[in-house]
Amino acid sequence: MKSEIAGMLIQRALEARKNSYAPYSGYLVGAALLAEDGTVYTGVNVENASYPAGICAERTALSKAVSEGRRHFKAIAVVGGRREESAGCLKEDCTPCGICRQSLAEFCTPDFPVITAKSITDYRIHTLGELLPFSFSLSCP
Ligand SMILES: [Zn+2]
Repeated sequence: MKSEIAGMLIQRALEARKNSYAPYSGYLVGAALLAEDGTVYTGVNVENASYPAGICAERTALSKAVSEGRRHFKAIAVVGGRREESAGCLKEDCTPCGICRQSLAEFCTPDFPVITAKSITDYRIHTLGELLPFSFSLSCP
């Protein structure tokens, strides 16, 4: 993973985060998913008054990509923090929740890079296999 690619994805995730709809938790998340063809799909968390109806930023990005025919991905960047934390000064890494890890495992291999960042220069690269070592899977018929 080249640092320029990581920085670009983090920047896109930070920009997307501005569109987060999080009136209930006040925790704004942005994600940027890089498809194999170079297209970047961004996503934000979209909460709902009926809490379980909300969706995370990672799955928003993944749903956008898959619905446009993409099935192969190179990396994802995720940024998150409370509303008062502006881009570039996030207090902590925001790692994908369990459902998002499982959703990514549907399309991505265990070595898939998951970038979590506080800023463009302060980030960590995990692998999906580290975050979800025993994902559920079924063989496609
Ligand atoms: Zn999630």
